[in-house]
Amino acid sequence: MAAHEAGSLHAQGQPPAWLEVPSDVNALLQPIWPAGTDKSADGVLRIGGLAATEVAAQVGTPAYVIDEADFRARAADFADQFERAFAHLAGARVHYAAKALITVGIAGWLAEDGLAVDVCTGNELEIVLRGGIAPEAITFHGSNKSDAELVRAMAVGVDLIVIDSLGEIDQIARLAQAHDRRPQVMLRCSIGIEAHTHEFIQTAHEDQKFGLSAADGSVAEGVRRVLGHGRLQLRGLHTHIGSQIFDTHAFGQAIRRMAALTAAVEREHGLQLAELGLGGGFGVAYTTGHDPLDPAQIAAGVAAHLERECRAEQIAVPHVTVEPGRAIAGPAGITLYTVGGVKPVTLDGGFTRLYVSIDGGMSDNIRTALYGADYSATLASRRSAAPPRLARVVGKHCEAGDIVVMDEYLPADIAAGDLLAVPVTGAYCHSMASNYNSIARPPVVAVKDGLLAVLLRRESLDDLLARDLYS
Ligand SMILES: *Cc1c(COP(=O)(O)O)cnc(C)c1O
Repeated sequence: MAAHEAGSLHAQGQPPAWLEVPSDVNALLQPIWPAGTDKSADGVLRIGGLAATEVAAQVGTPAYVIDEADFRARAADFADQFERAFAHLAGARVHYAAKALITVGIAGWLAEDGLAVDVCTGNELEIVLRGGIAPEAITFHGSNKSDAELVRAMAVGVDLIVIDSLGEIDQIARLAQAHDRRPQVMLRCSIGIEAHTHEFIQTAHEDQKFGLSAADGSVAEGVRRVLGHGRLQLRGLHTHIGSQIFDTHAFGQAIRRMAALTAAVEREHGLQLAELGLGGGFGVAYTTGHDPLDPAQIAAGVAAHLERECRAEQIAVPHVTVEPGRAIAGPAGITLYTVGGVKPVTLDGGFTRLYVSIDGGMSDNIRTALYGADYSATLASRRSAAPPRLARVVGKHCEAGDIVVMDEYLPADIAAGDLLAVPVTGAYCHSMASNYNSIARPPVVAVKDGLLAVLLRRESLDDLLARDLYS
């Protein structure tokens, strides 16, 4: 399913097969809530030791609520598991992909916990620097970096720049020469493997914008050009095959192709590449219909595949980087909304769907409209004795595709004023939020041990008008 540009989804029919009618509509379905999230006897959701009603009273709704301990535990788990799985090889480093969700406060957690970070723009770079991430722990990505972004990245001394095109090699070489820098670089390779939730496509050529093609010789040409520029130091090759991937076979194939590419470069130039970047994309459970691998399984799988493929290619196993974003931030965050109107709509076949309107929508969570993403929801402010009823959670925007949760069973008596919580919204919700309909973006708050910290305050009308030079 994809949003219709004309504005209407016209999606009808029965609920999806994975959605079960709950035996208790008040119960929290695991594993889609941050660790320790529960409901008290009166039905109020508690996250990070704080009642959802208390969060709403303090900062209003909609609000993104990040369970700090859960976020940091997921990041630490990735770091620990990769360190363990690669201890007998050349080591591995976990980079948090800042684009999933970044604020200065979150960068501070990552800095304290010793995580490295990936950024894709100059502004992401400034935010993580302010949070205290050391430049040596920053990789700079991006498919169309400006001169200003590259000069700044080199000036602060980021560890690594991942090059996305042949033209960028000459751009960086020119800027490095002008500013007397010797940046370390990797080449992003497109290797004909594209993986998303339920699809895994293998082709020779990839019809997408990222990276240098392995199939048409651009990777080989890129390596020659990098080596020809005395100022660029080639650390290795990089790939990122997609997002929300559950298919370990896709990662296995990617590792096979990257080992072969690395071996070809090493043979042609008689050198050894120190590093291999394998990107992110590890899937998370948005609903009970998803069954992701945990970091221990991912790390062990990547290490085993890589060791085998490098042996087959007769090359040394390089140091590895992985870049999870969603798998760290996604499950650690929820969004709290207040219900406004509730409207039953009778559909063909005689069943009715309850349209539940919330005080946010596609401006704070575009993923449902953009990708047909599935989400879940629960009543967060009280216990209900009513039976479950098939519902669709929709926003307040002027757009029929403004849907946050396509299908969910909610208590039949859900009503205006109730709080609704949507889990697994920590990644790619705030970071992709918009001001559609001149809506002010929600705050991002962290909860921990019963305390709330505002990471980003709610946007205001004044914030919006500050850009309007006619105001
Ligand atoms: C988006 C991206 C990531 C993170 O992807 P997730 O699906 O959030 O894990 C990692 N690396 C690169 C290069 C990316 O573009």
